[in-house]
Amino acid sequence: MPSVKPLNQDSIIEAVQYWRDGHLVAFGTETVYGLGADAGQARAVSQIFATKQRPQFNPLISHVADPDTAFTLGHITPLAKTLADAFWPGPMTLVLRRCDSNAICDLVTAGLDTVALRVPEHKGAQALLAAANIPIAAPSANPSGRLSPTTAEHVATAFADYSEPRLILDMGACDKGLESTVIDARADIPVLLRPGSITVEMITTATGHPPLAPDAQILSPGQLVSHYAPDAMIRLNADAPRLGEAWLGFGDDPDLSHAAVSCNLSPEADLNDAAAHLFSMLRQLDQSGAKTIAIAPIPDHDLGVAINDRLTRAAAPRNQ
Ligand code: AMP
Ligand code: MG
Repeated sequence: MPSVKPLNQDSIIEAVQYWRDGHLVAFGTETVYGLGADAGQARAVSQIFATKQRPQFNPLISHVADPDTAFTLGHITPLAKTLADAFWPGPMTLVLRRCDSNAICDLVTAGLDTVALRVPEHKGAQALLAAANIPIAAPSANPSGRLSPTTAEHVATAFADYSEPRLILDMGACDKGLESTVIDARADIPVLLRPGSITVEMITTATGHPPLAPDAQILSPGQLVSHYAPDAMIRLNADAPRLGEAWLGFGDDPDLSHAAVSCNLSPEADLNDAAAHLFSMLRQLDQSGAKTIAIAPIPDHDLGVAINDRLTRAAAPRNQ
């Protein structure tokens, strides 16, 4: 059962320690309460998906204390600078090209080469993020499919019987109670990925352009915000690698003498470990140059559902 504490010096120190130890801490912002983990620790981030019982690995927003830190994680563009000057700190998330950094793991970005960043304006959240000094990946702190929480009590009720989050920081009721506006700021014209408290009118005034809808985005297909797709073909539910295939195992490996290269998501058959390794191992095997990645069957329960969802999409033919 998570403990609920008011935000103060002591609870901030406790929260930061939990994050460093790979645990979850729920905290308030001006939008909704977030279920946070150290964005650099894939195993901790996998606990977010397990705790929320999310059936899919959609990319998560990483929260930082100030815009300068955000722009060490995502590549700045003139548009991003304009939007950050106008709306950060505040209820706006920018999607940018990801910088080469270990501070945000592949599970947070769902293997994409983009990263979603936000600088909240809530004073308590800023103090907390400044003390943590690491990006905190946090979706809304509710079980999947339920309403987003705007008080600490909502979070405590939702996760009463859970081992995570370890701590819920009571930071009062959220002002906006509406999720952040998500804007793709990689190109010259803003693309509105999710409407929120920062309105279309506000974005238009700040940038001089009405934001585009995602499907109007005129970019090469590889730049479209979709899901991570390896270049290699994917063969699911494989018993063993065929000659020259890359192998992605789960649990005990079969005879690997035919494999060109291999990884194992979790030799102990632990679904949380498998989720933590999924994107980085897929990327590694894809980069090996093998034409096909054969993948062991993954049990279709708990985090296995999200893993199988992602693998099935990766296996689908392109341009679908
Ligand atoms: P939530 O998990 O409810 O906080 O929602 C996160 C939102 O940010 C979703 O709408 C995601 O699709 C969006 N998002 C997060 N990361 C990315 C990314 N790298 N590219 C595009 N959209 C993203
Ligand atoms: Mg949500």
